[in-house]
Amino acid sequence: MPSTNPQVSGHICPNCHSDDARSLSMVFQQGSSTHSFGALVAGNGIAGIGGDVVSQTNLSLRAAPPQKKSEFVWFLLGVVLVIGGCVGLVLFFFGSPPDKPDPGSVHDPIMMGLAVVCFLLSVLPFMAAFSNAKYNRTDWRALHLRWMQSWMCMRCGLIWKPTKSHE
Ligand SMILES: [Zn+2]
Repeated sequence: MPSTNPQVSGHICPNCHSDDARSLSMVFQQGSSTHSFGALVAGNGIAGIGGDVVSQTNLSLRAAPPQKKSEFVWFLLGVVLVIGGCVGLVLFFFGSPPDKPDPGSVHDPIMMGLAVVCFLLSVLPFMAAFSNAKYNRTDWRALHLRWMQSWMCMRCGLIWKPTKSHE
């Protein structure tokens, strides 16, 4: 029966055999809160929200967790386009071109064109939102789980995921 204790085998770097290794999440958290050394880098996502600049060491950037892909922004864009299409339809059926004197009797083809373009274009952001949502529920979860279980060697910088095999 193989040993199922990744805590022990995880502390030894498989590259340089140093025992000075830390979990990736710990390296990242320590680096994110450190302001005294390392390059000042505006990390993607974390520093972008709210305008705060988070100083991170290069080490913690390497140890950063996998980023989720945006769902809401794409979904919102799709909704905006659908609303734009509906507005175009309403203007087509109930509005009239400014150069025509009789309101409601002549339908402006530009408005119908606008509506069709909006409805067609709205498919793209909805597909992107769906695709990103699928990624976040499958691939991202696997990547994040792997990140949680990974270790970084403080001597050579190797990142690895301890296997459960005995040494
Ligand atoms: Zn090492």
